[in-house]
Amino acid sequence: MGTTIRATCPNCGDVELGVADLTALLCSTNDAASYSFRCPGCMVLVTKSTGRRVVDVLVSSGVELRRWRFPAELEEPHNGQAFAPADVVALREDLSRSDWYARLVAAGSGFAGDSEEG
Ligand SMILES: [Zn+2]
Repeated sequence: MGTTIRATCPNCGDVELGVADLTALLCSTNDAASYSFRCPGCMVLVTKSTGRRVVDVLVSSGVELRRWRFPAELEEPHNGQAFAPADVVALREDLSRSDWYARLVAAGSGFAGDSEEG
């Protein structure tokens, strides 16, 4: 019989899993450690933050380790104006019009709020 790992699902409480049922996760951007599993009871994907030591123990037990990093887009310069609450209101109004898609196509990239400068 293989290793049994007990984890907690927010819906079902304690559940028992095999090593193949979990994935250990290490973020190379900020060294955050976590693990995830699909609950055998309710099928919800559960992800929990944990310590590096727990990840090491899981991996030494045979759990797959997956390394990930923040998306590279986060490091790109953003020179435009920040998206403001008024932009959300304007977008909501635009999307409530029945011709929103035709207006989007007609406006091209300018629909996204590109300002005219000069
Ligand atoms: Zn569950």
